[in-house]
Amino acid sequence: MPAIKFRGVDFIQYDSLLTDEERLVRDTTRQFIEDNLIPIIEECNRAGRFPRELVKPMGELGFFGASLKGYGCAGMGNVEYGLMTQELERGDSGVRSFVSVQSGLVMYPIWEFGSDEQKQTWLPPMQKGEKLGCFGLTEPDFGSNPGGMRTRARKVGNEYVINGEKMWITSGSIADVAIIWAKVENENDKIRGFLVETDRPGFKADDIHGKWSLRASVTSGLSLQDVHIPEANLLPKTGGLKSPLMCLNQARYGIAWGALGAAMACYDCALQYSLLRKQWRDQPIASHQLVQDKLTWMISEITKAQLLVLQVGRLKDAGKVQHQHISMAKRNNVWMALECARMSRDILGANGVADDYPIMRHMMNLESVKTYEGTHDVHSLIIGQSVTGIDAF
Ligand SMILES: Cc1cc2nc3c(=O)[nH]c(=O)nc-3n(C[C@H](O)[C@H](O)[C@H](O)COP(=O)(O)OP(=O)(O)OC[C@H]3O[C@@H](n4cnc5c(N)ncnc54)[C@H](O)[C@@H]3O)c2cc1C
Repeated sequence: MPAIKFRGVDFIQYDSLLTDEERLVRDTTRQFIEDNLIPIIEECNRAGRFPRELVKPMGELGFFGASLKGYGCAGMGNVEYGLMTQELERGDSGVRSFVSVQSGLVMYPIWEFGSDEQKQTWLPPMQKGEKLGCFGLTEPDFGSNPGGMRTRARKVGNEYVINGEKMWITSGSIADVAIIWAKVENENDKIRGFLVETDRPGFKADDIHGKWSLRASVTSGLSLQDVHIPEANLLPKTGGLKSPLMCLNQARYGIAWGALGAAMACYDCALQYSLLRKQWRDQPIASHQLVQDKLTWMISEITKAQLLVLQVGRLKDAGKVQHQHISMAKRNNVWMALECARMSRDILGANGVADDYPIMRHMMNLESVKTYEGTHDVHSLIIGQSVTGIDAF
């Protein structure tokens, strides 16, 4: 069976809805992934290795903090940003996760909630990929309900002292700085965000091994024991759970596009395979109605998902997007991508379980993507709340 090369997916002249700049960002990212990630990703996935050698080139192409303005950031529109994450995840969800965390969960909160000094210190080197960050919200006992967090910060003189545990933290052990969310004891347990340099005494990051998903991404547990940080490390404009949720909204938006990329990779691979693979009467398996039904389901759902994220992106550019719109895009597109991965795997038969093809890797990755940044069911509750006005959490 010859190697299958991604050709893009466009059933309804979707490209005509995009500007020249948007297509350029997509095509540049696609080429970067094709040249640099596709040749090494299966090896990285097998070895459980994050391809760190790609960080600098990704910084040079402006992938980090791409939708932010100033501090060397690319200042992309939201659809350009989305198309970039789509192409990154067409390569691998782990690499897209790394970029989402660096951009939406670390650079964005510094940009949105930070002091001028914090922005000057961190954003330019993070944009270049010279400094890496992680986002510590989830704890061993609290995931979907981060408001239950046990991590505490106490103001002592002109310092804060932080104690707690964070779990499932992307890029934890490779980060130079962690954004740690903690309840501040002297402020009636109000949740606030802190910049914690990872070389401070009392800070420890241990990688989680044995993951069957996002194997090309680093995931760590963080432990903070009496970590002292200067009061200048408090992100001054954070206040309450709304602050981390604003960050999650940024990252979820990119995930909705990213999952689309994984779905496109699986569908295009299955389509090409079905035209090459012959079983009965020397005819390709694509000639059977049941195979065509699966391909039809996938191309229909991918096309609907493209339109959904495009509209959400346009709303975001116009400053009109609401969090429930982003929830719908994340929930729908990740579910759709996982279904596409399963159907595509089926079309490849036994070959579908081997890493000569990207499908099973995407499928395993998407199981994490379904869970993180608000599980599928948590997004059902967010959408349900917005249409009924009733909180069902
Ligand atoms: C690979 C990976 C990387 C991650 N990276 C990060 C990171 O960088 N930073 C970070 O802070 N976190 C990160 N996370 C954590 C992630 O955000 C959490 O796993 C997620 O929020 C779910 O929390 P949980 O795993 O504790 O599941 P739980 O909250 O225990 O949920 C378990 C199940 O219960 C369901 N459930 C929960 N509440 C309700 C309810 N009210 N009604 C109905 N069903 C409910 C959920 O939908 C789910 O099916 C990462 C996770 C993974 C797997």
